[in-house]
Amino acid sequence: MIPLTHAEGGAFLLGDSHPDRVFTPEDFTAESRMMARTAEEFLAREVLPKTAQIEQHDTDLMACLMRQAGELGLLAADVPVEYGGLGLDVPTGALLAEKLNPQQSFALTHEAHSVIAVMPLLLFGSHEQKLKYLPKLASGEWLGSFCLSEPDSGSDALSAQTKAVLDPDGETYVLNGTKMWITNAAFADLFTVFAKVDGSRFTAFLVERGTPGLSLGPEEHKLGMKGTSTRRVMFDNVGVPVDNRLGAEGTGHYAAFCTLNLGRFKLEAGAVGGLKALLRQDVEYAKQRKQFGRPIAEFGQIQHKIAEIAARTFVLESAVYRLAGMLDERFSSIDPTSTDAPAAYHAAAEEYSPECGIVKVFGSELYSESADESIQIHGGYGYTEEFPPARAWRDQRLLRIGEGANEVVRLNLINTLIRRGSSGRIDLGDATKRALALTDADFAPDSEAGTPWNRLKTAALVLLHIASSAYGQRLPDEQEVVACIADIVIAAFVVESAALRMARMAARRVKPDILEIASIAADIVADQVLASAHIGAHTVMTRVAQTKPIDSAVQRLVVALFFSRESPDVIGLRRQLAKRCCEAGGYPWD
Ligand SMILES: Cc1cc2nc3c(=O)[nH]c(=O)nc-3n(C[C@H](O)[C@H](O)[C@H](O)COP(=O)(O)OP(=O)(O)OC[C@H]3O[C@@H](n4cnc5c(N)ncnc54)[C@H](O)[C@@H]3O)c2cc1C
Repeated sequence: MIPLTHAEGGAFLLGDSHPDRVFTPEDFTAESRMMARTAEEFLAREVLPKTAQIEQHDTDLMACLMRQAGELGLLAADVPVEYGGLGLDVPTGALLAEKLNPQQSFALTHEAHSVIAVMPLLLFGSHEQKLKYLPKLASGEWLGSFCLSEPDSGSDALSAQTKAVLDPDGETYVLNGTKMWITNAAFADLFTVFAKVDGSRFTAFLVERGTPGLSLGPEEHKLGMKGTSTRRVMFDNVGVPVDNRLGAEGTGHYAAFCTLNLGRFKLEAGAVGGLKALLRQDVEYAKQRKQFGRPIAEFGQIQHKIAEIAARTFVLESAVYRLAGMLDERFSSIDPTSTDAPAAYHAAAEEYSPECGIVKVFGSELYSESADESIQIHGGYGYTEEFPPARAWRDQRLLRIGEGANEVVRLNLINTLIRRGSSGRIDLGDATKRALALTDADFAPDSEAGTPWNRLKTAALVLLHIASSAYGQRLPDEQEVVACIADIVIAAFVVESAALRMARMAARRVKPDILEIASIAADIVADQVLASAHIGAHTVMTRVAQTKPIDSAVQRLVVALFFSRESPDVIGLRRQLAKRCCEAGGYPWD
């Protein structure tokens, strides 16, 4: 792999990223940590004690908590100072999401307001629109919602039916249609609404609460996130001033998709916090619960679960903050008041759509598996409302569906990489050529090509190559093949992120024992994702071979990729890591 000198989205697949370019949780400043403490204390003092009431669907309480959060600046992180916000860097905003997650209903309400409701305005609004609304949204005086989904359009958001027609006077659009699943609908003062002008030009509008013709459906009865408000929002000849159109007609899809990229990233920053809270509860419970005369924490199968949650959370955290740093590099150079700001924001928010999708899939699936295992660690008690895992399990389930269902995110990830490769935006062709030229000898222990992440990158490039040459334009129809390749791409990014973080930890001379358990965590996850990738590669090759014979050199290369590695003693590693989690009372890297 060649060293990367650029940082385009998806380019991580083409070469080696340098640790110096990577943001890690160890890089937070004292100010960022202080802000995070404010969020943590607010959650502990004001939100968590009211969980029972929140779970009873008290949306007035939720609105009240949001306004309190606003008074503390917790809604203002991403809003530039010029518009009444704190203008914090992207990693600090992510850290706040992490700290707020242990009450997931509150966290989702917070995210729906501060990311998906605010971002379309922040990224694509005019200076005047931002001056008018952002200070109110940053302070919590106003709360917001994001209205994209409809009864018949979810993943296929662009097939929305809501229509906007410009009045003959040219001053007002008239909106008609129904939006569905709208988080914060009960108390939102501002609705960011996507509608098609004349049934074709997808466009974003800002609609104020109380506008005649806007009405709400009843609250949905949901599996989890019971403290959030989720309603239909109906538009019956709702007049919206032309001044409240965001950007030009026909550009609403940029506002929607760029916002969802950032939403995916923020949701998974939240997942890091939720996973750490689960781990804390699991460890606490496993240490005190005795069966067969011993704490269950001493049993190998329980240690396995604890170690898996810890190891994979470490890897997710590394990937989330690496991405936070990448986003920050782009966002921090934008002047939010300039007339070029929307174009610059658009480019920045679009750039890392592959990486945002990667953390979305990895984080939400990890959260699901871990919440499930947390219930198992708690046994029958885990199946009751008395202990936190039951609520966490119900709540987190949304993350695999919301802001882009994972199936669609996987497809988009590969589609985007192929598109960027074809347009020359990333040099996929050259990287694939280099990957195909590798031989068994290149995978010697300690070789560059033999690192877990480079094996995964090579596998992804080679499989993408053989699948593309077998199916050509029909590749998107082979969804199972695409999803297998997507999983290998995802594994490559997250495993590399952990390795880069460890390199930075070593350079910063963090305590050797912290580095040692980081290395254990990375080994555990690498072993597991390489084993899954091996199965995935086999599945893809078997399928592709039905259409086009696979070159024997490629077959040999794939065999070498997965068979030339030495597996560590993962059982021993898991036991060590679980022990460290028990000693630390939870996540050992905080
Ligand atoms: C609690 C909650 C809060 C929400 N909040 C908001 C909000 O504030 N604002 C908002 O606009 N929306 C919101 N949503 C909607 C959410 O974004 C959608 O549910 C999501 O985008 C999926 O759309 P859908 O439910 O219509 O499922 P569908 O799109 O119908 O998908 C159903 C299944 O089919 C799969 N699928 C769809 N297309 C493909 C394909 N091409 N290939 C393979 N599989 C495919 C999906 O992955 C999924 O598994 C919320 C939803 C919930 C449940």
